[in-house]
Amino acid sequence: MWNGSNPYLPGTDLKVWLDGKIVHMNDAKVSVFDHGLLYGDGVFEGIRAYNGKVFQMEAHMRRVYEGAGAICLKIPIGKEEFGKAIYDTLRANNLQNAYIRAVVTRGAGYLGLHPAKTANPSVFIITCALSLYPLELYEKGMPIVTASTIRNHPHALSAQVKSLNYLNNIMAQIEATQAGAVEAVMLNHQGYVAECTGDNIFAVRKGELWTPPASAGILEGVTRAVVLELGRRRRIPVCEKNMTRHDLYVSDECFLTGTGAEIMPITHIDQRQIGCGKIGVMTKQLLEDFWACTRGETDVQV
Ligand code: PMP
Repeated sequence: MWNGSNPYLPGTDLKVWLDGKIVHMNDAKVSVFDHGLLYGDGVFEGIRAYNGKVFQMEAHMRRVYEGAGAICLKIPIGKEEFGKAIYDTLRANNLQNAYIRAVVTRGAGYLGLHPAKTANPSVFIITCALSLYPLELYEKGMPIVTASTIRNHPHALSAQVKSLNYLNNIMAQIEATQAGAVEAVMLNHQGYVAECTGDNIFAVRKGELWTPPASAGILEGVTRAVVLELGRRRRIPVCEKNMTRHDLYVSDECFLTGTGAEIMPITHIDQRQIGCGKIGVMTKQLLEDFWACTRGETDVQV
């Protein structure tokens, strides 16, 4: 239960970029009439900065503009200005290594669903220090469970739209917590593995790297794309294919990918031990390669 202190927002002095201005977090307010709040009408991005450089800025900008375009939401600033605003926010908070949350809402308007009932979209950017998981977890890995909540049908709303309505994922996250896990894997409407509540999932089987395809109704994560490229560079056969829960149970290695989690080894799924029950050889290689990217030692553009 939240006790009023937020581990993702250490300190009380964050500066937030809101519609062109840097303001103190206590003054960063959106209206109760904002359709982002009333209807989940908007899009967001989770981004990281490492050593003062925004990681995969282009890919994140592409996704947020494409997602907004797909829901007929015109972001009031251009990509370059958006990027500059992110750097301005990092600077205002004196942050070199940070988690960045960029949000575009439909804006305040009359009650009623139609976007024409709103005036102007709102953009805000929050940056904060983040270490999501303790370092030892990257060696030890973590257990996950399968959620009974299936991933949204991709024909209802594309998972590529990272919308402000995350209830589908939140329902699965609640299941994870109730089962004593931090993440849950979600299956799709066909019973195939989709993704976790806030991460993509990979399995290693007989030296091959498998991950569900976009058609499984997953968000094509930026970290996922980086890992696929790192796998190809290591000449690992990479395969985007539908997987069953059984495929995960019998995999040699399994891991999650996401902006916050980076690459997190999975040791157990539904209490079945995966591989040796700790980080696998291929996962370790990819994690080292990934960290080399975040340190700017290898350049991967996705
Ligand atoms: N799937 C979902 C549902 C997500 O919300 C996210 C982002 N947290 C991911 C996958 C991973 O995407 P990325 O690597 O771009 O952070």
